[in-house]
Amino acid sequence: MDIRVGDRIQTKKPHPCGASQFEVLRVGMDFKIRCTGCGHEVMLPRAKIEKNIKKVIRLQENA
Ligand SMILES: [Zn+2]
Repeated sequence: MDIRVGDRIQTKKPHPCGASQFEVLRVGMDFKIRCTGCGHEVMLPRAKIEKNIKKVIRLQENA
């Protein structure tokens, strides 16, 4: 799955605050994402995030 820094991911399971979109801050073995609802940042292993992704939203092309 192609995910880049600056993308937004829509998750199957929403954050406890109700938002289901997260901003991608760092990619690699572990991803760092920030909830667009409450601003909470979390680091998760790539495999775990990929399982929970519904959709990748690319905000910046050719970045
Ligand atoms: Zn949240």
